[in-house]
Amino acid sequence: MEGGHYLVTLTFYGGINEIGGNKVLLEDNGTRIFLDFGMSFGRRALFFEEFLTPRSANGIGDFLTMGLIPDIPGIYRPDLLSHFGRKPKDADIQAVLLSHAHADHANYISFLHRDIPVYCGETCKYILEAVEEQSQRTMENEVLSFKKRPVYRCDYKTPPEKRTFHTFRTGDTLKIDSLEIQPIHVDHSVPGAYGFLIHTSEGTVVYTGDLRMHGLHSEMTMEFLETARETKPIAMVTEGTRINVERTNESEEQVYAESKQTIADNKKLSIVDFNFKDVDRFTTFYRIARDVGKTLVINFKHACFLERYHRDIKLRTPDSKDDNIRILKPKRLTGTYIDEDYSEYYIKRRLNYPNIITADDLLRHPGQYMVVLNFWYFNMMVDLQPQGGIYIHSLSEPFNEEMEISFDRMHNWLNHFQLQFVQSHCSGHICGPDLEELITGINPKELYPIHTEHPELFEQLPMKTTIVQEGKTYKL
Ligand SMILES: [Zn+2]
Repeated sequence: MEGGHYLVTLTFYGGINEIGGNKVLLEDNGTRIFLDFGMSFGRRALFFEEFLTPRSANGIGDFLTMGLIPDIPGIYRPDLLSHFGRKPKDADIQAVLLSHAHADHANYISFLHRDIPVYCGETCKYILEAVEEQSQRTMENEVLSFKKRPVYRCDYKTPPEKRTFHTFRTGDTLKIDSLEIQPIHVDHSVPGAYGFLIHTSEGTVVYTGDLRMHGLHSEMTMEFLETARETKPIAMVTEGTRINVERTNESEEQVYAESKQTIADNKKLSIVDFNFKDVDRFTTFYRIARDVGKTLVINFKHACFLERYHRDIKLRTPDSKDDNIRILKPKRLTGTYIDEDYSEYYIKRRLNYPNIITADDLLRHPGQYMVVLNFWYFNMMVDLQPQGGIYIHSLSEPFNEEMEISFDRMHNWLNHFQLQFVQSHCSGHICGPDLEELITGINPKELYPIHTEHPELFEQLPMKTTIVQEGKTYKL
């Protein structure tokens, strides 16, 4: 690498001093790719909340003006720019590498020019499909496909435009112009998560995405570590969500053990709440249901995920029509469960499943069932009458004010129905000591921490560490 005629740079647009929202631009001699293009919940919450939202009537304008996305020419959809009164440009980015399907890494792909292809894992794409199937279209969740704006009444029936996706598996090598990229699976709280080794003209750049070492598949993260180390990387862009957290005994197996005993002893209804994108957590509760002889009850949205997971043989998950699974039909419109009450396609096309039940069925033998019920569906407790049962909160504890408010409200529901509260969770993110082990193991020349509220804690590591600034370009 002599002569100095190569020029590789990194520019950071999101996920800086905050958890999530990664948008890292890597340039190598005119090839430009983004590492993730996520939505930052933190930044959005600075200005917006439930009833105060960015307007789709202004195209991309509210998002650009309020700094939710960076103002870069040649990356956004022409329809959104024109709608805002800007002159559209051709796409000037060769690819987005998407590490995994969490919204804070994927969702603002929604705004990107359709000529920019997206590269992601096969299972990651399945999850994006499951999300699309069950979601109302908004400008912030048009990852796989989008409706050209503005949408006039006469356009309602026009099908959406599809984005180009290229899927990969671990072991594949991607070629994007002069760049060669190795995606390597990592363990995270969603399947289909990858880190990337990007071989540039100056050397290898490592990008971690989100990962952990204490999950069920730590061997995947170790494989990432080993392979990355061998490339003697010149730079590493790392997540740092929990750099300030010490190692604990948290594990998926512990969630299993803690929850199993409580559920086995419970003669009333058991309610569990976890994120269905986390297939390991699903497997934990599915295992518990089988091991204690109860039936797991999910909803139609969960069925969308389960049917995609089932397609990936490696995940070894049951189909949504499995003997040990029931799908709970919600009350809509007339409250009488007639077919015409259901207008959403993801429910309508599943109404003929053999394993659909209603709250009335559950009331006959509540001790027989474990219901997956997320907070947003707590009003169904009125039908479920879970008095005296248990509620297992298998999610992280609240870490901001909004979550605290919801958490209090959640407890009001639990108290109202005299439900016993049990907290049992293990994080999707690597803790401080493990992260130190990962970084010193990979041993990059330079370190760029992002996706963290504590970048300064990385400065004690034995390599050149840069605390990045928004929009600034760093030469490698
Ligand atoms: Zn994530």
